[in-house]
Amino acid sequence: MLDCIFCKIANKEIDSQIVFEDDKMVAFKDLSPQAPVHLLIIPKKHIQSLADVSEDDVKLLGEMLIRVKKLAEEFELENGYRTVINTRGDGGQTVDHLHIHLLGKRKMQCPPG
Ligand code: 5GP
Ligand code: ZN
Repeated sequence: MLDCIFCKIANKEIDSQIVFEDDKMVAFKDLSPQAPVHLLIIPKKHIQSLADVSEDDVKLLGEMLIRVKKLAEEFELENGYRTVINTRGDGGQTVDHLHIHLLGKRKMQCPPG
């Protein structure tokens, strides 16, 4: 999609620190990390938000969650981690391309602010 930062990251038109890639998704380090480990997992396909997924995306969404688990192992987050999906304006979403935040290596406050 034109002018979508995360599509551009997936297409390597914008540099990022990619930590995983396959034919369906990319995971990369957040530019402004909120924890020592702060990764973003995105589908290569442009989906605006979690509010815009469909039944066609069931397999993709499942694979993204399995990738979260595997990345958490790779980044040694055995003590735990937080996953966040901000959705649309009230959810605090600032980039309109579905992404899962994976945060770890610090104690998270509960509930999130
Ligand atoms: P949101 O607020 O939409 O849930 O999260 C968007 C995230 O994308 C933010 O944590 C922000 O730091 C990150 N971000 C925005 N632009 C870029 C970029 O160009 N590169 C990378 N690596 N992260 C970005
Ligand atoms: Zn996009």
